[in-house]
Amino acid sequence: MTLTTDAAGLRTVALQELSAICTLAEAITWERTYLGPKGEVTRLLRGLGELPADQRPDAGRAAQELRSDLQQRYSHLRAELTAAKLQTSLATDTVDVTLPGRQPNIGVDHPVSAMIEELSEIFALMGFQTVFGPEVETGHYNFDLLNIPSDHPARDVWDTIFIESDEAEILLRTHTSPMQARVMEATTPPVRVIVPGRTYRYEAQDASHEWMFHQLEGLAVDETITMADLKGVLREVGRQLFGPDRKVRFRCDYFPFVEPGVDFAVDCAICDGVGCRVCKQTGWLEMGGAGMVHPNVLRGVGYDPERYTGFAFGLGIERMIMMKYGVNDVRAFAVNDLRFLSQFARPML
Ligand SMILES: [Zn+2]
Repeated sequence: MTLTTDAAGLRTVALQELSAICTLAEAITWERTYLGPKGEVTRLLRGLGELPADQRPDAGRAAQELRSDLQQRYSHLRAELTAAKLQTSLATDTVDVTLPGRQPNIGVDHPVSAMIEELSEIFALMGFQTVFGPEVETGHYNFDLLNIPSDHPARDVWDTIFIESDEAEILLRTHTSPMQARVMEATTPPVRVIVPGRTYRYEAQDASHEWMFHQLEGLAVDETITMADLKGVLREVGRQLFGPDRKVRFRCDYFPFVEPGVDFAVDCAICDGVGCRVCKQTGWLEMGGAGMVHPNVLRGVGYDPERYTGFAFGLGIERMIMMKYGVNDVRAFAVNDLRFLSQFARPML
């Protein structure tokens, strides 16, 4: 028996098996049996070398023809079976395109982030740039440059969290005010910035106190800035946040880095100044502290207080949200309770 007849026999058997195949899995098994690396046809081709030289050309040609013929038939069958399988699944796996889709669970901005964003937009319209500063500060920026020298009793007003350090007085900033000096040191007037960010106090927590909270510092320095500018800016913020027709109230207050210093309030938008639960029956919502920048602060950063004047203010971000939405516990902002946070979701379009 020659190899040529071997090839013919192999073809008969292979084609017989091939004609009985109905599934893709069977086709793959068949391909492995005949055409794979250990398949029958491969074995046939490897055996060519052992033949007498005069038989090799014919036997080789027969084996090659067999291989390419089977390969062709296999590709054809495989394509047919794949198409049939697709047809079957299309016919049986029906999709009801009228069913509503799954709603993706889209998160929302944290109310603190949203308020910072809102305030940044309000101030941007008035020419204020938003900048951020370090939360770990030195006593130099947190106190000294704000006219609070180390022997000043006002230094005790801020319950400071200190960080152990041999080199300098390092602390978690107790307010966003240190950025006043940092901005002025790097800028020639005019200066118009707001500084939102986290601040820290060594303080017991209750419904209106947190050891970490957010402030928004504002600073404007130029040649002709007066208290009227301060009042105009804060009134505009009050109107943008709490609605038109809001009024601003200034009362004397003391902060070492301003002179004169004021606390400022907006008349309550909920009761229109008559008195309600949100404004604690006073008719006013306390917004924060403000004042004209103290000449010592200007001198500390190399500005000439004879030439430049400015105003500064500080707002509590959580406080703004609590007033705007009637939230009564500041601790709610830090506990990550989705039932609370999702109430600040903007309506989906
Ligand atoms: Zn009220």
